[in-house]
Amino acid sequence: TEAYLAAIERARVLNAYVVETPERALAMAKASDARRAAGTVGALEGIPLGIKDLFATEGVHTQACSHVLDGFRPTYESTVSANLWADGAVMLGKLNMDEFAMGSSNETSYYGPVASPWRRAGSNATLVPGGSSGGSAAAVAARLCLGATATDTGGSIRQPAAFTGTVGIKPTYGRCSRWGIVAFASSLDQAGPIARTVRDAAILLRSMASVDPKDTTSVDRPVPDYEAAVGKGVRGLKIGIPREYRLDGMPAEIDALWERGIAILREAGAEIVDISLPHTKYALPAYYIVAPAEASSNLARYDGVRYGLRVPGDDIVDMYEKSRAAGFGAEVKRRILIGTYVLSAGYYDAYYLRAQKVRTLIKRDFELAYANGVDAILTPATPSAAFGQGEKGGGDPVEMYLNDVFTVTVNMAGLPGLAVPAGTSSEGLPLGLQLIGRPFDEETLFTIGRVIE
Ligand code: GLN
Repeated sequence: TEAYLAAIERARVLNAYVVETPERALAMAKASDARRAAGTVGALEGIPLGIKDLFATEGVHTQACSHVLDGFRPTYESTVSANLWADGAVMLGKLNMDEFAMGSSNETSYYGPVASPWRRAGSNATLVPGGSSGGSAAAVAARLCLGATATDTGGSIRQPAAFTGTVGIKPTYGRCSRWGIVAFASSLDQAGPIARTVRDAAILLRSMASVDPKDTTSVDRPVPDYEAAVGKGVRGLKIGIPREYRLDGMPAEIDALWERGIAILREAGAEIVDISLPHTKYALPAYYIVAPAEASSNLARYDGVRYGLRVPGDDIVDMYEKSRAAGFGAEVKRRILIGTYVLSAGYYDAYYLRAQKVRTLIKRDFELAYANGVDAILTPATPSAAFGQGEKGGGDPVEMYLNDVFTVTVNMAGLPGLAVPAGTSSEGLPLGLQLIGRPFDEETLFTIGRVIE
């Protein structure tokens, strides 16, 4: 813990942590030492972790990296982080992220962008770590924690993991409790770990996952020993390669990465089959209707009364308006506007209802592939390597949204998805592959992921 606290101090230039909690960390580490001396060792005893600012941590800054939650210190702990502490882990601090988890580059944070520890060969330009869990990914990649919590609504665990050469898994919807996690789009949000290796991710997920009476969408199924799945062979497994993920204009190095992943698995004895997921092309537009719709509803609670920032006004409506105007950043406001628009009386059927129907079709595509005996699906995690700070989305937000083209389908269908480092770009940057699994079959993803990493 002391070594990690010192590393965090030296690497403040990355802006990965928005809050460091050294006193709490040392107290937790001491308590861990005492348990060790008493012979009661938890699954994560003494392991120093970073926590995304989206998770409620009792008495500690929890602001989803938004100004609107200014000064918010919850009186309660999220179920996921409580599970980690119950297994003996140590909290180093709260990690930077895109405001309310809306973004793909960690540039929408009220606390400023996170710098990736990576650089392009021969260039000193600052690169993004991806988003929204950019602080989590940068901290793990730069060795500023042994693992981190993250959340994924449309790719926010997998895309930053791919950009930083780390491993990230979004488990099946319902695997982890969402209680105490600031809500973005409740039907899509899931927590998961970002870690250095597939094995570490497996160990962390086992601790994070649980059924929880405080989240009725959490699922009452035993949590398997994921670590036992790491190191098993892939012989006989059927891996689907969906043709719709071969996009026009995709960089050749992403295609080559995918081919390399296929070759590794084939050589290890897996059977590779071509599959079709015909509704893939509708996933991104449908996601950018469903997610903002749910967000506009979830974010209605930030009214200047119940939490955080209050800007005084002439009357209560004026106070609401001023607080929300000052509290939310530009991307969050854009999502609220899109969300209220697609939910409004005249447009509900044309946008929101249609997007929900598309969602069902996307889910069916996957169900059919799995019914035909496919054990897991292999795709690239992102359509490119990490890009530079300020490089994307300035003029056109859709340019940024296109980053999520391979990841949002998985949230729409509620499936587990693992991002694993699988190669390097021509400029020396990490590239990741994505494995998509059957519902609640994270184990197969860990097995296959270990063979690729
Ligand atoms: N980049 C996507 C968005 O901005 C996904 C974010 C996420 O998974 N939290 O909505």
